[in-house]
Amino acid sequence: YLSIRALRKEFDGFVALDDVSLDVRKGEIFALLGGSGSGKSTLLRCLGGFETPTAGTIDLDGQRINALPPYQRPINMMFQSYALFPHMSVEQNIAFGLKQDGLARDAIRRRVGEMLELVQLEKLAKRKPHQLSGGQQQRVALARSLAKGPKLLLLDEPMGALDKKLRSQMQIELVNIIETSGVTCVMVTHDQEEAMTMATRIAVMDAGWIQQVGKPDEIYEQPANRFVAGFIGSVN
Ligand code: ATP
Ligand code: MG
Repeated sequence: YLSIRALRKEFDGFVALDDVSLDVRKGEIFALLGGSGSGKSTLLRCLGGFETPTAGTIDLDGQRINALPPYQRPINMMFQSYALFPHMSVEQNIAFGLKQDGLARDAIRRRVGEMLELVQLEKLAKRKPHQLSGGQQQRVALARSLAKGPKLLLLDEPMGALDKKLRSQMQIELVNIIETSGVTCVMVTHDQEEAMTMATRIAVMDAGWIQQVGKPDEIYEQPANRFVAGFIGSVN
């Protein structure tokens, strides 16, 4: 479904991604897990079109996308800060991209209604972002990202702006929303517990390399090398 081949990204000679090849299946929640500077965000930004790979290819659903600008990719990226429009209500935030696409008013209203139901914010549709909790803001951002029905949803540290207590609750909620919407998701996290809880499969990254790809229990029980064993074991 999503097929990444021999992807390389250099910044002025510094190799941030080195020969990354990955296959993500339709409907998966795929986690990129690794320490700071391992190349997770760079890989996600290459998928979203916010970085141009030095070499390699990205195919989505049979279409070669690595040379397309972000807005031409059937992909949405949710940023860590959520980047909600502060002067717009919840429903206006969700409707924004649909309006830009020139969708008819009725169709927009229907779609916004579906999204509000999906993230269970029907009662808060008229509120502004500053009148919402962190978890509610995260759900608005998610609804806005899913409104256009992207083939691929990219999440960079989706829990990064939430306090520790809210995180574990939102991990479960986020998985429910993603699974209900049916979107394929690639998420970045440095938190192994979060990857284990949320992901169908995990790629462990270090220094621009993919060290191992597997289901959470495979990576936990059969780490491919000492790096993975050390990284996964470090909290337990
Ligand atoms: P973190 O968990 O801290 O967010 P990360 O795994 O997301 O880390 P990246 O942001 O992908 O790491 O960065 C990978 C490497 O590439 C780092 O060494 C970083 O300094 C470097 N890098 C990223 N963006 C640029 C850039 N625009 N110019 C130069 N170097 C960059
Ligand atoms: Mg990052």
